[in-house]
Amino acid sequence: MSTPAIAPVSIHGQVDVHKYGDTLRVPIIHFPSFHLLGPLISGNMLEALKNLTKDSSSAAANGDSSPKDARKANEAGPRKAGDPLCLPPGIDSEKFKEFIDRVLDIVGQTNVTVITGTENLDKESYLDPSKVHDMFHVLAEDYFVSSAVVAPRNVQDVQAIMRLCNEFEIPVWPFSIGRNVGYGGAAPRVPGSIGLDMGRNMDKILEVNVDGAYALVEPGVTFQGLHDYLVKNNLRDKLWIDVPDLGGGSVLGNTIERGVGYTPYGDHWMMHCGLEVVLPDGTLVRTGMGALPDPDADPNVPPDQQSGNKTWQLFNYGFGPYNDGIFTQSSLGVVVKMGIWLMANPGGYQSYLITFPRDEDLHQAVEIIRPLRIGMVLQNVPSIRHVLLDAAVMGDRKKYSNSDKPLTDTEIDEIAAKLNLGRWNFYGALYGPAPIREAMWQVVKASFSKIPGAKFYFPEDMPENKVLQIRDGTLQGIPSVDELAWVDWLPNGAHLFFSPIAKVSGDDAVAQYELTRRRSEELGFDFIGTFVVGMREMHHIVCIVFNRKDRQQRENAHKLIHTLIDDAAKLGWGEYRTHLALMDQIAGTYNFNDNAQMKLNETIKNALDPKGILAPGKNGIWPSSYDKKAWSLQPGDRNGEQGTRS
Ligand SMILES: Cc1cc2nc3c(=O)[nH]c(=O)nc-3n(C[C@H](O)[C@H](O)[C@H](O)COP(=O)(O)OP(=O)(O)OC[C@H]3O[C@@H](n4cnc5c(N)ncnc54)[C@H](O)[C@@H]3O)c2cc1C
Repeated sequence: MSTPAIAPVSIHGQVDVHKYGDTLRVPIIHFPSFHLLGPLISGNMLEALKNLTKDSSSAAANGDSSPKDARKANEAGPRKAGDPLCLPPGIDSEKFKEFIDRVLDIVGQTNVTVITGTENLDKESYLDPSKVHDMFHVLAEDYFVSSAVVAPRNVQDVQAIMRLCNEFEIPVWPFSIGRNVGYGGAAPRVPGSIGLDMGRNMDKILEVNVDGAYALVEPGVTFQGLHDYLVKNNLRDKLWIDVPDLGGGSVLGNTIERGVGYTPYGDHWMMHCGLEVVLPDGTLVRTGMGALPDPDADPNVPPDQQSGNKTWQLFNYGFGPYNDGIFTQSSLGVVVKMGIWLMANPGGYQSYLITFPRDEDLHQAVEIIRPLRIGMVLQNVPSIRHVLLDAAVMGDRKKYSNSDKPLTDTEIDEIAAKLNLGRWNFYGALYGPAPIREAMWQVVKASFSKIPGAKFYFPEDMPENKVLQIRDGTLQGIPSVDELAWVDWLPNGAHLFFSPIAKVSGDDAVAQYELTRRRSEELGFDFIGTFVVGMREMHHIVCIVFNRKDRQQRENAHKLIHTLIDDAAKLGWGEYRTHLALMDQIAGTYNFNDNAQMKLNETIKNALDPKGILAPGKNGIWPSSYDKKAWSLQPGDRNGEQGTRS
């Protein structure tokens, strides 16, 4: 073994040390790699100080990191050539460059983009989304920003990248397509993370099984892509997919965020079956029946290429504890394959619209919906949309009003009359052969006819009603991007989603509507929203549309959602999903029994990801290698509003 060279040391001032009851003034001696205090101190104190000064890598590797050695955001400062807009926390230019060289060796030149300038932040449209930052930002545009985006070519690349990120202790944020607009898009929670673009190369439909009615997909498969595949292969007469309002997102990405669609298979997570996941340390896991090897699998190929068990996509739970849930809205694994059940073509379909004329009809409509939905007479995930949501799909605000104040009830009534809509509009569908549909329709029609003035339409009755025509496609799993139009209600339209869960009860629906409308109007916004009816609850989706180029509006939108989260928590309402900037606040509201669930989540996080490299901060869960208090974004914080650069 060679003797290490003795590095030069220098004295860097003095410091008062308070430890174990002693106070000592000691010189700081600078060694090349760490600071150590001079030899004036006792053995006990020396030990303690070593702990204070040891670098975060060894602390995290030993699983004993604390806020003192936690990762800090890099200060905005002079940048060196080749630096990204924002370096990963605790990483300097040289280290970053070294990392990039190593990651280039894994994925090749064409799959690495370093985000060096604001020109990388110029994308503004869902149709061509940014893979780098949040296009619909409420904090500074360059706050939630990646330092580089890396696109793995296959599962082994993902594993190698996870190992490399562990080695360098660089945070990594996976996304599939990056169309998670209203919730942060492709942007990472920690500025300067590596964006892991899972969809760019890994976009194969690995299997469509007609007998079992399922597909096995990679992250880059979009709803549109899966639908097109069925059409192209003449399979749509057998199988349908379920789609959210917009078809450009990832089937896998949307499902693991627990997104929703509108056919009978609208609860996407309920309809997933079997995952393949790369854990933060690079280990590859198959969940459910996938853990049982296929006896015919080729043992000579890497595990991710081995055929799966024949029941992997047929039975969700497998044996032992059910793991899948911990990989949703999660920072515990990168999902590389997912099974999704497809709906058998029901043999007949009819969509419909029921309009309710008065604002107060919401109460009775929801009371009617509950027994019908639980009894499955309402077969799909229907929605009751406020008229302004439909109006916004059919035109921008200027088309209806020149006022810059929130629209009044009289103005909203005028808009409803003009569009031949109600104040609330219920979009549902009937599935099955004609006799089944007719029987269902009799019940549906008789039930809603109890609301005075309710009107019933099929798409052919209203060819000019753009929304009904769009819903006709969506409710039978035909993707489109037409609903995108409501984002342009205001010039430079952007939006945040406020998405609380509501009981399917008239009282709850009205209370949520009144609160969210009142708060929206207090801050100058129109209420635009919809209740999406699940099996036993409703996702109340409030679309906070703002002008992204208007700083005051951005700040008001942010303030509105902060306020609503607090208001809602006081009334026992919680959100099902949220934007990056609100994750800490919402996580803080799920605090039953002294935050027991958060403690559980943190324990699992630290066990599976001791260095805290995978999506730190996602959904408010901070690994112990981060100082949660310093990183969390709470109402009133200025954190992030100034961006990451000077
Ligand atoms: C007009 C409009 C209507 C919308 N309607 C709906 C709707 O009806 N239903 C709905 O659900 N949403 C809706 N959205 C929101 C959004 O567009 C969709 O949810 C979209 O599918 C999410 O984007 P994505 O699929 O590209 O996900 P991504 O952006 O790829 O992923 C979202 C997040 O999931 C995680 N993730 C993704 N992939 C992986 C992976 N492989 N491993 C680990 N973690 C991963 C990451 O945290 C990522 O940030 C709507 C948006 C707009 C603008």
